[in-house]
Amino acid sequence: MSDTQKIWLDGEIVDKSEAKISVFDHGLLYGDGIFEGIRMYSGRVFRLTEHIDRLFDSAKAILMKLPWTKEEVIQATVDTVKANSLTDGYIRLVITRGTGGLGLNPYLCETPSMFIIAANIQLYPEENYENGLELITCATRRPTPASLSPQVKSLNYLNNIMAKIECIQAGVMEGIMLNEQGLVAECTGDNVFILKRGVVYTPPIADGSLDGITRQVIFDLCESEGIVIKEKSMTRYDIYTADEAFLTGTAAEVIPFVKLDQREIGDGKPGAISQQLITAFRKLANSEGTPCV
Ligand code: PMP
Repeated sequence: MSDTQKIWLDGEIVDKSEAKISVFDHGLLYGDGIFEGIRMYSGRVFRLTEHIDRLFDSAKAILMKLPWTKEEVIQATVDTVKANSLTDGYIRLVITRGTGGLGLNPYLCETPSMFIIAANIQLYPEENYENGLELITCATRRPTPASLSPQVKSLNYLNNIMAKIECIQAGVMEGIMLNEQGLVAECTGDNVFILKRGVVYTPPIADGSLDGITRQVIFDLCESEGIVIKEKSMTRYDIYTADEAFLTGTAAEVIPFVKLDQREIGDGKPGAISQQLITAFRKLANSEGTPCV
């Protein structure tokens, strides 16, 4: 993105070079903040209300009082997209606790800061959608929801980053993260699905995954496409022996994976149901959303 990129920062649209926050902001000092990654297709923001609802739930869970209404945050998002003349892209909406002292106490922070970045994105090359990804299982575990709920989309992503480092070192782009019981939770930035004997399965969010917006889209699409989908706790064995497997995420969309820990899944090629869901997802994403142009 060029230097002409416009950022929404605390109520103003400013140039990228002017978009700065304090070194005393607890978002930076402690990862005390929340965010959303949102997509837009063909001039419309996809599932914007759902993202803003999740953002406000994250704020509530960490006792962060927001000085904006949901409508104001939606308007700010649309304004950012317009200021950058984008029709397709990725929107990163971040809210930090605000500036405070050097101690943890969030009550000493002034008002939260919000900034919104709208940019182009291509997470995976098209060939990965056609041929599927290879995954490993990461040694880094997803923390139990009893310590910090994975539903809070917080600025503290170190757990996922540790797992991502393992993936990069192994030469793959994503990895499965297990919870403390050894059950499949999710990937470092995506939800996990398998297909076995015609039924799509995904772990319940109680097993340690984010309640992904794209995950919910898959439930909707399975319903409209007449595909049976169920939540089921799973171990790596269930993935090794699946007929098909795919990941979902706002940035990744719906992407097949064909290998886990060197075991080929099914016949090692993206399966028919995965491809059907990718096509259905792309059609839906390009046909609904909050208009921005
Ligand atoms: N899990 C994690 C840890 C994530 O960060 C994300 C978002 N990138 C997802 C799952 C997918 O969620 P969504 O479909 O809402 O983007």
